[in-house]
Amino acid sequence: MDETMSAKRNENTRLLCPRCGQHDIWKNGTSRAGKQQYRCRNCNRIFVKEPYISKSIQEIADRLLTHDIEVPVAARILKGYVSRRWLYSRKEKFNVGS
Ligand SMILES: [Zn+2]
Repeated sequence: MDETMSAKRNENTRLLCPRCGQHDIWKNGTSRAGKQQYRCRNCNRIFVKEPYISKSIQEIADRLLTHDIEVPVAARILKGYVSRRWLYSRKEKFNVGS
């Protein structure tokens, strides 16, 4: 299977749609500020790449959010690592997810 190849490609881009969480992302030119923009093929959301968030930070964030820690509190704990906005979209995914 070419599972490893696609996994590797995701490793390089590591992009997730902030709205629907899909990996199906296309480049969509640059913003006025000169940042690379991306478009989600699933929901057509256009967004700018977030700064890279390491897996351990994501795990901490997930743990906080799944233990009913409010987003502003989690944002204070993880200040400098993730944005409040990112935490909200992350939390949304938990609420929506099965
Ligand atoms: Zn999307």
